[in-house]
Amino acid sequence: MPAMDRKITCIECPTGCTVTVAVEDGKAVRVDGFGCRRGRDYAISEVEHPERLLTTTVPACGLAVRMVPVRTSRPIPRDMRTQAMETIRQVRLRHAVKVGDVIIENLLGLGVDVVATREVLSDT
Ligand code: SF4
Repeated sequence: MPAMDRKITCIECPTGCTVTVAVEDGKAVRVDGFGCRRGRDYAISEVEHPERLLTTTVPACGLAVRMVPVRTSRPIPRDMRTQAMETIRQVRLRHAVKVGDVIIENLLGLGVDVVATREVLSDT
């Protein structure tokens, strides 16, 4: 299959260069338009191994709110999102948390934690 061009907007700095990546069999075979090496690496990673921060909520029991917002401490591979959500969905938070408290350690063995993004007090 011939290479297909993908346009990626680099988000590594405010300049927002449009980087064109020629993709063949899921691999970057040519990269143009980047302003620096960081953007080139970002565009290749977006094409070959896209990652995203996962943000969601977990249910709370006996706390001041019913749902607690959480996110992964670092981006995770996009194709592991469903599996990650299945794991997170099993959690019930039963104690007060502060911002940054770890809710799930080492999610799916990825070396990434799930952390609270809001302080939640107990319901007393
Ligand atoms: S390629 Fe470099 S200069 Fe351009 S947006 Fe990305 S980080 Fe900034």
